[in-house]
Amino acid sequence: MEKKKKKHFELDPNSIKSMTAWYFVVFSLAIISIFWFLQDFFLNQYYETFRAQEALRNAKSIEIQYRENYGGFSKYANTTAISSGIYIRVESFNSTDVYDGTSAINSDLELDDGLKAAKDALVDSSENSIHAEVKGNKRNESYLIYASYLSDKDAPAILYVVAPLYPVQSTLTIMRTLLLYVSAIVMLLAFFLAIFLAKRLSAPIESITKSADEMSKGNYSIKFNGGYCTETKNLAKVLNQASYEMEQADFYQREIIANVSHDLKTPLTMIRSYAEMINDISGDNPVKRKEHLNVIISETERLNQLVVDMMDASKIQSNSIELHKEYFNLVDVVKAAYESFAILKEQEGYDITFAPCKKAIVYGDKARISQVVHNFLTNAVKYSGDQKYVHLEMKRNTKKVTVQISDHGVGIAKDELNHVWDRYYRTSANHQRSIEGSGIGLSICKGILSLHNANYGVDSEEGKGSTFWFELPVEKQPK
Ligand code: ADP
Repeated sequence: MEKKKKKHFELDPNSIKSMTAWYFVVFSLAIISIFWFLQDFFLNQYYETFRAQEALRNAKSIEIQYRENYGGFSKYANTTAISSGIYIRVESFNSTDVYDGTSAINSDLELDDGLKAAKDALVDSSENSIHAEVKGNKRNESYLIYASYLSDKDAPAILYVVAPLYPVQSTLTIMRTLLLYVSAIVMLLAFFLAIFLAKRLSAPIESITKSADEMSKGNYSIKFNGGYCTETKNLAKVLNQASYEMEQADFYQREIIANVSHDLKTPLTMIRSYAEMINDISGDNPVKRKEHLNVIISETERLNQLVVDMMDASKIQSNSIELHKEYFNLVDVVKAAYESFAILKEQEGYDITFAPCKKAIVYGDKARISQVVHNFLTNAVKYSGDQKYVHLEMKRNTKKVTVQISDHGVGIAKDELNHVWDRYYRTSANHQRSIEGSGIGLSICKGILSLHNANYGVDSEEGKGSTFWFELPVEKQPK
């Protein structure tokens, strides 16, 4: 029995998952540290300033209340003392009122001494109020002592406000506990977010890798799934396109091997059969022997042409084709091609016609342009069907000259029109009819015409025929 492979998880520190997790952990730790740092180092300082300002504000409003709201002053002072946690004392010539909202201010501060010192300072000062920060005796905490005249200097009523400037212990404890909770929540959130994010990021990449692995085994029908992120979606799109192209290339490669072996096999069989015939039968009969040798020669020519085509195609693909450009009359070139094909007209019943235009000088590689015309013509003849009708037409204006080669043959299906220029592509109709061909010719034409920056194309309707065309700019014959 086959043992089931144990799936074990190895933690890869370089994987997206681990990296995101680490970044999140470090990030949340940084945030938490900043929180703690702020509270430990800055809180006391800020708290002191804040408390001091608040105490001074309170003192001012107490002064106003004392003057304007005599009946309700006691209540106001009491509430302020309690709500702000301060010590308020109002000394007038006949009474001393105390409102204490602090907890045990006396236990730390020598209050009477402090207030006396404040009174002395106020008397010495030319101002209406003074304030100072003092340190407690036992706990070394800071206090703000404020003193001001509430009425005339001559019959003075004096207001004292004492405010502890340190945070109350319970406030600190609450804040620390709160921070502890916040830290824990942040860490937990970061942890789950890291897992979620890592999954979301790595899942499409893992899926793409898996698909690519499948594709490398030759399964081109596999679809790449890019998940939700734009980048991975684009990657998947490009890979889907690549997989399509590879499938096509693979298909064409198989096709060419099949086609070329077929193309090579037919002439080779012919050569062999005719050589055997000469050997066995016609060796002594000069007329028959010549006839058979001619077949061998023409088949060898076919083989040669096929090899030349394949070499041209590979040169075009590797961009190593060289053009020998010159000025020439395109009409002469097309006419020469037409004439070489006209012989077929007589021998095999083809109806080949030619409508030239007036002289059209172009600049290009004459031999290569002639090769294109020959190729279009060969195809027109080859695919002209029973009608055996082929028409060459040239049109020119001041700017350009167009060569059109039409047939009334099998035509090309719409969805195959763009592919006929691809290397090794042969339309499905021709497969069925088993017309011989390698699918190289038009790709060579495309290469040559592209190198000339020429416009070219094909118009075709299935069953009605095709027109292959190209155009070149008309030049002035240099003197
Ligand atoms: P082939 O050697 O197969 O003719 P080409 O590259 O010259 O190779 O042509 C590619 C394919 O384009 C052909 O196999 C054929 O299916 C199609 N084709 C080319 N010319 C014509 C035409 N005049 N009419 C119909 N189909 C054509």
